[in-house]
Amino acid sequence: GWDFKGLLKRNWLLIATIVSVLLGIGLGVVVREYASLSHLHKQYFGFPGEILMRMLKLVILPLIISSMITGVAALDSEVSGKIGLRAVVYYFSTTIIAVILGIVLVMTIRPGVSQEAEHIDRTGTTPNVTTVDTLLDLTNSFVEFLQKVCSPSVGGAVCITFPHLSHIVAISTCLNITKDYKIVGSYSDGINVLGLIVFCVAFGLVIGKMGERGRILLEFFDALNEATMRLVQIIMCYMPVGILFLIAAKIIEVEDWEIFRKMGLYMVTVLSGLAIHSTICLPLIYFAIVRKNPYTFTLGMAQALVTALMISSSSATLPVTFRCAEENLRIDKRITRFVLPVGATINMDGTALYEAVAAIFIAQLNDYSLDVGQIVTISITATVASIGAAGVPNAGLVTMVIVLTAVGLPANDVTLIVAVDWLLDRFRTMINVLGDAYGAGIVQKLSRRELERMDITSDVDVTNPF
Ligand code: ASP
Repeated sequence: GWDFKGLLKRNWLLIATIVSVLLGIGLGVVVREYASLSHLHKQYFGFPGEILMRMLKLVILPLIISSMITGVAALDSEVSGKIGLRAVVYYFSTTIIAVILGIVLVMTIRPGVSQEAEHIDRTGTTPNVTTVDTLLDLTNSFVEFLQKVCSPSVGGAVCITFPHLSHIVAISTCLNITKDYKIVGSYSDGINVLGLIVFCVAFGLVIGKMGERGRILLEFFDALNEATMRLVQIIMCYMPVGILFLIAAKIIEVEDWEIFRKMGLYMVTVLSGLAIHSTICLPLIYFAIVRKNPYTFTLGMAQALVTALMISSSSATLPVTFRCAEENLRIDKRITRFVLPVGATINMDGTALYEAVAAIFIAQLNDYSLDVGQIVTISITATVASIGAAGVPNAGLVTMVIVLTAVGLPANDVTLIVAVDWLLDRFRTMINVLGDAYGAGIVQKLSRRELERMDITSDVDVTNPF
């Protein structure tokens, strides 16, 4: 027989979350129809949702610190280098696949050339851009690129991949702290997770080399990790309530629903790209390597996926991603602690796909024909922009500027797609999170030999030190 009760019991949180999404949409529509709330009342209304966001953001910091440090310190540098390299190869190749898929779709569907696009209000464009302006823009975005993207992410990638180059870690950590790169940014724009990761990798490598005395710290951070995950468990019980109000408040707040009709084809392009990537591309890669059912894997991540869809932030979803990957999918902690936090920050397939589609959509709206070189430029910059985007809401919209300026489109044209971004953001974040999870599953499979060898030789069991 079919164990219906058991199924309910095991998945009560997921079921409650989905029910609360539906209730939230209903509540939002009803309140919107029948009550006209003042700005202040809207804020009160959104308060229970705000609490959920704050609780999730609160645990990211101890979670990333404890998981990255133990993740790096527990592996010897040769093994962590191999795992890091595999993760980086996975991140890059899946991101590129997503970009190419996006480009193919937007060039076939051509949403910007259609009838609907004519109605779109074009008030956001700059009238005339001089060559000097363009040059200045390019220089600025290049410098910004170096500060924001290069130093932390390349530094992070280098030191994960080649741990013996620890001095690079030191340099990029310095770069991160100086400039406006504080390790922990203001909470409103989230934490500078990349800077934090670079620091934790450096710290983890050092602890790993300290021998007996380092083990004290390793156990400390491991206990911190366990304590944080217990907090996460408590927060998750509040999740259905928080999500109900989060979505209801959003529905009340949105002003222009009409825009969705006008931008329909553009949204269809992005959404179908995301759908194909998550139901065909990623599962195929997973199946080819792991030889297990990818859809069971996706189902195991359901709670994290719904969360990402509701809060549009990979970083804030991270605690839930961890729980799903470790509890439901039983992925080795030595892998998740490494692959998930880095992935949540630099591996964004959904964002990359979206940036490529949006850039070409804007070109189509401008009647601007792109040559092959420019399309290659778009694929490269979209990849870079997705790496540079932080895992916070609407980050991808900001890094769009890199893509637009690189091919000579007016950066101000992002205003054309702002109105629908809150919706697309949710879906691309969901795919970003799914991509990280698949990454953990795939890297675990590829690293099984090293992990087994460590199980035999190592005398410390980091996954359970007590
Ligand atoms: N919100 C996305 C994320 O957190 C980033 C983006 O805006 O594309 O993954």
